[in-house]
Amino acid sequence: MTPKQIIVIGGGYGGLRAIEHLAGDNRFRITLIDYRPYHYLQTEAYGYIAGRFDIHDITIDLANWCDGFSPKIRFVQTRALGYDTANNTVTTEAGSFCYDYLVIAVGARTNFFSFIGGLREHSYGVKNLQRAFAFRQMFETLIYDKVEETRTPDASPLHIAIGGAGLSGVEIAAEMAEVIHRHHRTLGANAEKIRICLIDAAETILPGMHPYIITRTQRRLEALGIEIMTRAFIDRVDDGAIHLKDGKVLPYRYMIFTGGIEANVLDSDRPAPTNRLRQLQPDAYLNLAGTDNAFAVGDCAELKDVTGRPLPPTAQTAEKSAEYVARSIRMRSEGKIPKPFHARVDGMFVALGGRYAVGELFGIIRVKGYTGYLLKKAITKGYYLGLKLRINTGYKKRSGT
Ligand SMILES: Cc1cc2nc3c(=O)[nH]c(=O)nc-3n(C[C@H](O)[C@H](O)[C@H](O)COP(=O)(O)OP(=O)(O)OC[C@H]3O[C@@H](n4cnc5c(N)ncnc54)[C@H](O)[C@@H]3O)c2cc1C
Repeated sequence: MTPKQIIVIGGGYGGLRAIEHLAGDNRFRITLIDYRPYHYLQTEAYGYIAGRFDIHDITIDLANWCDGFSPKIRFVQTRALGYDTANNTVTTEAGSFCYDYLVIAVGARTNFFSFIGGLREHSYGVKNLQRAFAFRQMFETLIYDKVEETRTPDASPLHIAIGGAGLSGVEIAAEMAEVIHRHHRTLGANAEKIRICLIDAAETILPGMHPYIITRTQRRLEALGIEIMTRAFIDRVDDGAIHLKDGKVLPYRYMIFTGGIEANVLDSDRPAPTNRLRQLQPDAYLNLAGTDNAFAVGDCAELKDVTGRPLPPTAQTAEKSAEYVARSIRMRSEGKIPKPFHARVDGMFVALGGRYAVGELFGIIRVKGYTGYLLKKAITKGYYLGLKLRINTGYKKRSGT
């Protein structure tokens, strides 16, 4: 029997998980399409920005990873432009590809809301490596400048502002503050003049998360000296000042914006339903409307839990939806109909600088501090090592060693 062609667009958390669950099944031939040569571990961006991790800790070469499977997965580095569900084709900058099954896993990017004047021009996002790299350099330069600066006791503080107190904003703020805090003796009094300020329009930090996580995180951020401004609406941003709707003006040197995402979008032959974040709205089987062989997973899709509530756009959600779709493709290729997609959030860990994390599992287990850090580290290390094993196999095959 001729193997069925599966195309996965996007080598992020969702795309890679779908491939892991389909590879090795001789009924399929898989092609991964991504315009970047690497998988970016966004969940570790906080540590990269603050200088705790290096580039090799947060990127995985997709060609080597794909070669690590047997049979090899084909990797095509190109930008997908659109898909045609009537003719089962994907158009890319490198030509067209036919598929029997399509998995769209193109993720999302930072949404620099157009109604906040100057936001895009004056702030950094961290959902792509280039921006995270640029911000890391800024942070390093800032500390360097402070180390070099002549001591002036009355020098005014210098603010790094983070717009958005969701998971990514909180983790980045905590890690940067911890670096300054931990090294304050060696860096000198000037470094203490770097203040980190977290701004969010919501009632609390980490809106929607478990109350235990919110309370513990708030305490930890305060202990790290982070200024938290909730119910604060950013009106506009200009060179050096953030203007809030209530008239307050916050001076800043650098700003990161993590306050919203919008899905990456592909052209399609028929208009697919989308929500206000431009996320695709697949049916209960994660199929694109009117199809039974084209699926959307991860951040680019609006995914719901059993009660119909949207699931948060996390790596965990991306992986669960991808596992479901992989199972679904297997079943459909056997003529079976899968059950609808039902997922829930098993838990969440928030890295809060250095060896400190707060977490909650299955609604009953709660951890904080070093234990939380060890658990979070075990999860992320497990993920990373899984990828590294494939990479090593792929690299050996490639280099013939
Ligand atoms: C700082 C930070 C911290 C986070 N912490 C956590 C955490 O602790 N826990 C957690 O669960 N989640 C966390 N998240 C969220 C998590 O990273 C995302 O939810 C996850 O990356 C979504 O996976 P995905 O596969 O949908 O998309 P992505 O991982 O974004 O992957 C999408 C891929 O598609 C590719 N692509 C896009 N457009 C095209 C195109 N046109 N053609 C070809 N390829 C394309 C991209 O290059 C990319 O490789 C964090 C995010 C950030 C930014």
